[in-house]
Amino acid sequence: MPYRVALIASNPSLPFVFDAAGRADCLITLTTLPGAFVPAGLPHLERTVELDIFGDPEGAHGWLADAHARQPFDAVVTVSEAAAPFTADAAQRLGLRGVRPEVARICRDKYRQRTIMRAAGLDVPGYRLIDAGADVGEQVAGLRFPLVVKPTNGLSSQGVSRADDLGELKAAVDLVQNINAEQLGSYADPSRAERTGILAEEFIDGPEYCVEAISGPDGTTVLTITDKGNLQGPFFEERTFITPAPLEPAVAARITEAVLTAHRETGIDFGASHTELRLRDGESPVLLEIAARMGGSGTVHYLVETATGVDFLGAMLRQACRGDLPDLRPTRQRVAGDWIVPVTGHGTFAGLSGADVVRRHPDTRLLLELMRPGAEVPQWPRFVGYPAFVLSEHSTHRDCLDFHAWLEGVIGIAWA
Ligand code: ADP
Ligand code: CA
Ligand code: CA
Repeated sequence: MPYRVALIASNPSLPFVFDAAGRADCLITLTTLPGAFVPAGLPHLERTVELDIFGDPEGAHGWLADAHARQPFDAVVTVSEAAAPFTADAAQRLGLRGVRPEVARICRDKYRQRTIMRAAGLDVPGYRLIDAGADVGEQVAGLRFPLVVKPTNGLSSQGVSRADDLGELKAAVDLVQNINAEQLGSYADPSRAERTGILAEEFIDGPEYCVEAISGPDGTTVLTITDKGNLQGPFFEERTFITPAPLEPAVAARITEAVLTAHRETGIDFGASHTELRLRDGESPVLLEIAARMGGSGTVHYLVETATGVDFLGAMLRQACRGDLPDLRPTRQRVAGDWIVPVTGHGTFAGLSGADVVRRHPDTRLLLELMRPGAEVPQWPRFVGYPAFVLSEHSTHRDCLDFHAWLEGVIGIAWA
C-alpha cells in the first residue's frame, strides 16, 4: 500500500513533488486554495480538494480530520511558505510528523526570527519594526542607510524595496502598508493575532546565497549552497540560482556553521528548510531569513538533485511518512541552474517569446511555464506569480553564467 500524503496549498503547476511521490511510494491528496488552477494528468494524485486554509482554517482542519478518520493519512506536508503554520497545526492535530507549530510561526515572522538569531549572536542586518503611523525617521535612528523595507510576513520579495534616504524610506513604508492591507493580511490568521507588520533593516551589500537543508533526530544536514547573485534593488525580483556556489572552503564552512546555529535557535528540527544570507566583506555570513519548508515551492529540489544526486523531495516525503531519512551523501557533481523569466513591465500576459529556442538548447533540462495567457500582471513589487523557470545543467559555474547571459537575450514575456 502506498503512503497517503496530504499536500497543503501547493502550486500544482510545479511538477516536482508529484514526480517525487512516485519515487517515495506516495499517493497525494492535494489541497488547493479556492480558484487555483490544477493542470490535468498530475501523476500520483489521489484527489484534489479546495480548502480555504487562510479564510476558514477551522473548516479546513475539519475536512482533514474527517478524511483522516475515514482513511488515515501517513503525512501532511507543504512546500508553500504561507501554508507552513497551517500544515504544522494540521500535522499536530492528526498526530503526524512535522515541525512544531510554534517553529513554523517563528519562521513566518521576519521580526521574530531576526530577534532570536540576534540573541544567539548570529550576524543579522540592523533592524526595526516600523509603526507607519508614527515618525518613521525617528524610528530608524541608529540604522545606517541604505535600508531595505519589507513586510514581516512577506514572500517572493513582494513589497521588498531599497531606500537610500528618508524620502525613499517613507515611500517604501507606504508601499508595504498598502501591500500588507491588499494581500499579505489574508495570510495571517486573525484568531491568532499574527503579525503583518513592516520591517526596516540595513542593506547588506554582498553576494547572496541560499542554503537547502534537511533536519532530523541527528541534526541538520546542509545539502547545497546556491549562488543567488548580488541584486542591488531598488526591487529584488529573484532572477538566478546556480548550485553549487563557487566558494572558498573556509567561507562555505562559516556559512554552514551559521545555518546550523540558525536551525538550532529557531527550533527547526524536522524536514526541509531554506535559509538566505549575504556575505559581509566577502567572507562573513549575515542571515537574511530562514524558512521551515522547502525553497522555491519545491523547485530547489531540481537544484539539489542535479548538483548532488540527492533526491531532496523524496527524502522529505519519506521522512514525513516513515520518520527516517535516506543516505544524504552526494553521488554526483554537476552545476544546476534556475533562471526566472523576469516580469519587467505590467499588463496582460500573452505568452513567452523565445521559448522554443530555449527548449532546443542542449543545456536546458526543463522550461516550466507558470503563467497562463490572459493573466493580469501588476507592476513589480506587486506580485502574482513568476512567468517561467528555465532549469539547466552544466559542467561549470562559468558555463551556467554564460547560459544565463544568453537567456537574457532570447526569452521574455509577450504582452497582449
Ligand atoms: P521574501 O521573504 O519576500 O523573499 P526577503 O527578506 O528574502 O523577503 O527579501 C527578498 C530579497 O531582497 C532578498 O533575497 C535580497 O536579495 C533582498 N534583501 C532583503 N533584505 C535585504 C538586506 N537587508 N540587505 C540586502 N538585500 C536584502
Ligand atoms: Ca521568504
Ligand atoms: Ca527570501
